[in-house]
Amino acid sequence: MTEQELLRLAEQEGFTHAAVLPVDQLEFDPELRKYCEENLCGNYGKNYSCPPFCGTPEEMRDRTAPYRRAWIFQTIGEVASWEDSGQIKAVRDAHNQKSRSLIQQLRKQGMDGLAMLAGPCSSCEVCSGFQGQPCRHPEEVPSCISAYCMKAEKMAADAGLPYWCGPGKVAFFSLYLTD
Ligand code: SF4
Repeated sequence: MTEQELLRLAEQEGFTHAAVLPVDQLEFDPELRKYCEENLCGNYGKNYSCPPFCGTPEEMRDRTAPYRRAWIFQTIGEVASWEDSGQIKAVRDAHNQKSRSLIQQLRKQGMDGLAMLAGPCSSCEVCSGFQGQPCRHPEEVPSCISAYCMKAEKMAADAGLPYWCGPGKVAFFSLYLTD
């Protein structure tokens, strides 16, 4: 599949934008880990896709090293208010669902890679880490851009994608890193 075909497929799947960057253009900053440690989302030390379970910032960055291209998929959704966490979560869940579906199609075509979705792994209704039980699907636990300590705003700028989308709009990113 050519780059153009893949980007077109992503738009057909319903993403607002899609772009591709060389993986070596992605920037990481271990200092960003402190935002996960603040645990405002409540997943730190609970969801297995999140720190500290997922790995140190250095280990996360090393995971991206074998790949050459970073496919970036973006959804921009409308919300009545940034206070409405339920509506924001609905946009994020729909974005992740589309991301999983597209990544599954790419894998079927032989494009193996590393998935990063928006927010913590949500394959299970409640992550078993909250009960101290083992992960139910350890073969793939997608971590989010924040867990990778990736500089997301810089990534969006490099890819020519909007990051702050203005009042009433939220933006979510997924990445799929491939050869
Ligand atoms: S697969 Fe389930 S148990 Fe494992 S990290 Fe994801 S949500 Fe948690």
